[in-house]
Order: sequence, then structure tokens, then C-alpha cells
Amino acid sequence: AKQDGRGVYRIYSADMQAQESQEFKLGLEIKAALAQHHFKLHYQPIICLETDDTLGFEALIRWTHQTQGAITPDQFIPFAEKNGLIGLIDHYVLSQSIEQIRLWRQNYAMPFYVSVNVSGLAFSEPDFATAVIQKLAEADVPARYLAIEITERALIENIEQARLCLKQLRQHGVKVLLDDFGTGYSSLSYLNEFKLDVLKIDRSFIANMKPRIQDNPVVNTVIALAKTLNLKVVAEGVETSLQRQLLKELGCDAGQGYWFAKALPAADAIKWLR
Ligand code: C2E
Ligand code: CA
Ligand code: CA
Ligand code: CA
Repeated sequence: AKQDGRGVYRIYSADMQAQESQEFKLGLEIKAALAQHHFKLHYQPIICLETDDTLGFEALIRWTHQTQGAITPDQFIPFAEKNGLIGLIDHYVLSQSIEQIRLWRQNYAMPFYVSVNVSGLAFSEPDFATAVIQKLAEADVPARYLAIEITERALIENIEQARLCLKQLRQHGVKVLLDDFGTGYSSLSYLNEFKLDVLKIDRSFIANMKPRIQDNPVVNTVIALAKTLNLKVVAEGVETSLQRQLLKELGCDAGQGYWFAKALPAADAIKWLR
């Protein structure tokens, strides 16, 4: 039995080592990819359900790995969050998004914002808002063109800091969207405490919508709640015209999802608009 135990231990340990060196490698590759600009942003439109106007584009990171090809964010964002690399990614994405706004504004009257995903970690840095505002100033981009998406977790992790950060950003005119609403473990009480602009209903709720309007009490209630709190509502993961129609009838302000468009490279996003 002892031998068995040691055997198991040895295998486990070899496994652990393999995993550790895999992770070490991924960490180095992320840093190299940042330096070499192998991360690109794609942009997915957020559409007003009433007018069909494009209100904004969500910036979503894409990694073209030299040997492995396309790597989706789910394969490296959670890793980066655990390994202290997410801050680098967040600041990179912010800078790239602001640069993209600057370029778009040179060529188009730009009636939409760009919405950037930011991790809880970045959001609880004491100088995060200042850094964002500085990046905007350096690029000469008015704050109204930028939005920040945070999750419920980011608000809860460091409540005092989050409150401060929200206040600073919003005072400057940067919009703040609450992402993946309904998936967190948090209570509703904090919604009242934090001043936000937009609530994004997680796509799991949209995927579960029923064809008859009256059979969607949860989505209906979330929309009503948002209205009460003076928030705009964006439904994520709108994949069918039925979902779009139901959401519109339920009073949802905007939708995002494959029904409208997937995330597109910057040039295609502009073409898609016209
Ligand atoms: P998210 O912020 O909830 O982003 C929405 C995700 O849903 C995106 O996946 C998008 O491509 C996908 N999606 C959009 N419409 C539909 C639809 O109609 N149906 C379905 N099934 N999916 C749809 P993506 O790009 O793979 O990103 C996954 C997650 O990775 C994001 O979830 C976000 O949490 C994170 N992420 C992406 N880009 C960044 C980034 O630049 N920074 C950080 N910190 N996180 C990011
Ligand atoms: Ca998001
Ligand atoms: Ca989301
Ligand atoms: Ca998400």
C-alpha cells in the first residue's frame, strides 16, 4: 500500500510539474504576445432595439498564436487572472481601444462608444480611473466614447475602491456597464449602492427565453428592476429574431449577439455599420 501511495504520489508530482511548466510557458507566451502585438481586438455591435442604431461596440480580445492559431479568451483570460497577468492585458486592451477610437474619429463621425472589459483586479487598483483618464487625454479622445465593462465580482471584491473608481470614471463621462448580470453570487443590495449606467443581462437568460412573452418573468423582472434604478439594459447573446422581438416588447433597450453580428475586426466593423 505504501508503495502504491508513493507511486501515486510520483505520478501526481510529475503531473503537477508538467502542468506547472505548461503554465509557466503560457505566462511567457502571453507576455511575448503583448510585446509583439499578437493580441487583436474585435468589435461586436450593441444595437438599439427601438431604432436599430449601433450604440456601441464591445471590444473582445483575440489571440493569434504563432503555432497554435486562434486562441479564445476563455483559454487565457482566467489563467491571466490567476497569475497576475490580467493587469497587463487590461491596460493593453484599454490603450488599443482608445487608439482605435482615435483612429475612427479621424475618419468618421462616430456616434457610438467602445466598451472594454476590465477585470476586478484592475478595477480595484487605486489609480485605475486616473490611468484611464490619462490615456484618454493623451489620445485626445473625449470620455463619452469609452465604456468599461465590469462584473459583479469586481464590485464586491473591494467595495470601497470600486465605489471610488466608479465615481471618478463616471464624473469624467466614462460609462460603466455591469457585465454578465445574474450570474454572480451577489445580492441585489449592492445595485442600489453603486452608480452605474448599463446593466447587461447575461446570455444564459436570453438563451432560456420562452416564445410566449408572458412566460419570461425573470427577464421581465430584470428589465423592470433596471428601469427602476435608471439603468439602460443590454441583452447579451441575442441569437434569434424571436429573442430580439420579445426583448423589444419587454422594454429592453439594446441587444448584442450573433443575430446582429459576431465580433468583427475593426475595418469590418466599420463596413458593417454603413
Ligand atoms: P463577455 O464579456 O461576456 O463577452 C461576450 C462573449 O459572448 C464573447 O465571447 C462573445 O463573442 C460571445 N457572444 C457574443 N454574442 C453571442 C451570441 O449570440 N451567442 C453566444 N453563444 N455567444 C456570443 P469571447 O469573445 O469568447 O469572450 C469570452 C469572455 O472573455 C468575455 O465574456 C470576457 O469575460 C472575456 N474577455 C474577452 N475579451 C476580454 C478583454 O479584452 N479583457 C478581459 N479582461 N476579458 C475579456
Ligand atoms: Ca463583456
Ligand atoms: Ca457578458
Ligand atoms: Ca463573461
